[in-house]
Amino acid sequence: MSGNAGVPAPRATSPSYGPCVLLKHGEIFLKGHNRHCFTERLHDNLRVALRGIGGSTWIKTAQNVTVLGGQVPQEALVERARRVIGFNSVEPAQRVPSTLEEITRAAVEALRTLSAERPGRGFAVRVKRRDKQFPLTSSRMAAHLGARVLEELPGLHVDLTRPDITLAVEIDRKETYLSWTRYPGLTGLPVGSSGRALVLLSGGYDSPVAAHRAMRRGLSCEFVHFSGAPYTNPASVYKAYALARELNRSQPPGRLHVIALGKAQKQLAVAGAGRLQVVAQRRLMVRTASALAARTGAQALVTGDSLGQVASQTLANLVAVDEASALPILRPLIGWEKQEIIDEARSIGTAEISTLPDEDCCRLLAPPRASTRAGLPQLRAVEKRLDLDEVTAALLDNVQVMLPGEDADAAPEVSPGCPAPTPA
Ligand code: ATP
Ligand code: MG
Repeated sequence: MSGNAGVPAPRATSPSYGPCVLLKHGEIFLKGHNRHCFTERLHDNLRVALRGIGGSTWIKTAQNVTVLGGQVPQEALVERARRVIGFNSVEPAQRVPSTLEEITRAAVEALRTLSAERPGRGFAVRVKRRDKQFPLTSSRMAAHLGARVLEELPGLHVDLTRPDITLAVEIDRKETYLSWTRYPGLTGLPVGSSGRALVLLSGGYDSPVAAHRAMRRGLSCEFVHFSGAPYTNPASVYKAYALARELNRSQPPGRLHVIALGKAQKQLAVAGAGRLQVVAQRRLMVRTASALAARTGAQALVTGDSLGQVASQTLANLVAVDEASALPILRPLIGWEKQEIIDEARSIGTAEISTLPDEDCCRLLAPPRASTRAGLPQLRAVEKRLDLDEVTAALLDNVQVMLPGEDADAAPEVSPGCPAPTPA
């Protein structure tokens, strides 16, 4: 496994004392001899997330922890780091030399400031020694710091069960980190560590959540969206663009491929697909997506299917769709309920975009009662009336490619009615 090719290293300063951010590693701590490959990938992704932050930064690794700092505001570092998949938590921290005097001074100062800012006077100090050479054990160090704080700040009291303020002190050989705020990270495996996938991205709630789950299992994702053009308006493309841009905040940006399916959908209808129309369209989508994946190097397709959610997602219909795909189809949401998917869409920031109105290609030519048990012989009979290779080649000849979020700060807000996104 190698790092992301072409990731320019941000201008690095050397680690200095003062504000920094502690990033606790997620699942990669379970890895064995190849853990360093995962860590390298995680750091590459972090560097991509730091692009354009407006100042020099540095990254340093301790045991299962990454330390991030630089000549930019600490809040900006926190905001960027929270987008990166692979960290369990993101903690703004103070970095001081690992001497008893410096740690004590910093702990007292931190509690002086925190107690002035926050209500409640009960505090706890939790100490972790990653360097066992440090002269005091963790519990003796915690007791020492607690006692010194009480001497200096008599209005406070120790409360180890329900503290108002918890000061975490992590001691390494040369430096020590003090932190008191912990933001949850996106957890999972670093994007790219499991390979590449092509996500079939429609405008609903499901496929963006599926993409995010795939990314959290280490897949670097590109996206393909099928529009009903020329028979539908471009709103679904704007939505797909906005969704991909939101998803790209959590990975080195992946391209969005837009394919106008309308004419091919008409061909299937003319060929007599009838109640099989939706499944026949899905088969054409995965066939075309597999051919596109062969060009882009993706090893699997990802969809937002959830078993039994709608007629096209009965087991029989999913099996019929699988049969048309040259690549495995990963369905991270197969066992999820709709409400769980909507809740997750809200938490990853895609729900609002998914609720925007559009003209989805699947509703175009959809039969009043779709078949829930599309038989392969009947589907093949319909498909035989078309030259599938020719249809697929024509679809791929006219694919439009964009890179949503490459310059996220400069990208326009996308909503129905805005100007079309610019191609990559
Ligand atoms: P969602 O995309 O949230 O599932 P939906 O419920 O309208 O919206 P379904 O009919 O459930 O879509 O489609 C199942 C899956 O098929 C989608 O999750 C997506 O992966 C894929 N898909 C459907 N329509 C499209 C499309 N127009 N472009 C790309 N992929 C699509
Ligand atoms: Mg769905």
